[in-house]
Amino acid sequence: HNTGQSCGLVDADSDAPEAWDRTTGSRSGVIGVIDSGIDVAHPDLAANIWRNPGEIAGNGVDDDANGYVDDVNGWDFSSNDNTPNDGNGHGTHVAGTIGAVGNDARGVAGVNWQVSLLPLKFLGTDGSGTTSGAIAAINYATALRTRGVNIVATNNSWGGGSFSTALQTAIQNHANAGILFVAAAGNDAANNDTTASYPANYPIANIISVAALDRYDPLASFSNFGATKVHVGAPGVAIFSTTPNNAYASYSGTSMAAPHVAGVAGLLAAANSQATAAELRAAILGSAVPIASLAGKAPTGGRL
Ligand code: CA
Ligand code: CA
Repeated sequence: HNTGQSCGLVDADSDAPEAWDRTTGSRSGVIGVIDSGIDVAHPDLAANIWRNPGEIAGNGVDDDANGYVDDVNGWDFSSNDNTPNDGNGHGTHVAGTIGAVGNDARGVAGVNWQVSLLPLKFLGTDGSGTTSGAIAAINYATALRTRGVNIVATNNSWGGGSFSTALQTAIQNHANAGILFVAAAGNDAANNDTTASYPANYPIANIISVAALDRYDPLASFSNFGATKVHVGAPGVAIFSTTPNNAYASYSGTSMAAPHVAGVAGLLAAANSQATAAELRAAILGSAVPIASLAGKAPTGGRL
């Protein structure tokens, strides 16, 4: 909500307060955070962490028969256990932007004041992970959706590696199941139309590739762009959000821009429970506000 604080440009923002007049989100909508985990005990997040309705905690049994024992709050695919806590901070920060509890006189409010955040950890404490871990995380969410859990979107603030047929297949299956795949465009100040950045660049219709904007509206100096391959810009510089152990910090990156978009997908789904992923995506891209710094650098040419 840009009121010109910190010398920003008034109204260079995503109009969140205006959206909150319509809805502040719903815990019936699940957003998967494919990242370094989430501090599920953070007081500004705990009430919005997804809980697996089919799993009995701590009984050593895979009650819902999804292949994961006691996966009450998602899974850690990096160390293959049921505690997807965050040793890095990145995933907790992303989670807070999507859905830190709102109107609780504490810390920050997420784009969604209430939502269900599903921790899908595949990045370790050093912030790195494997393609196979990412695929397992994506497939976990796809399987839940197929089972009837209302997973609206996954946020994918990660990238790197070369083209992977297996990863592309996993994202295509995600799309087929009706889940949006929101991806960070990358932080190389590169043109994604000429230098592919994965996973953002896979040619799959459920992907939204997100560039980072600053408080003055221009594209962030580090942000990737792409007239056809990057879809929309969102705030991504000096974003204040949750970090582990009841803390908060300001981070910058397209990693911080993507969760604004994933969060808006959650708000839209809360207000339009019958909307398909394609309809949510069309609404997000169709309502982008054209800004000069994105003209010719993203198909919408616009800000979330
Ligand atoms: Ca299970
Ligand atoms: Ca169990």
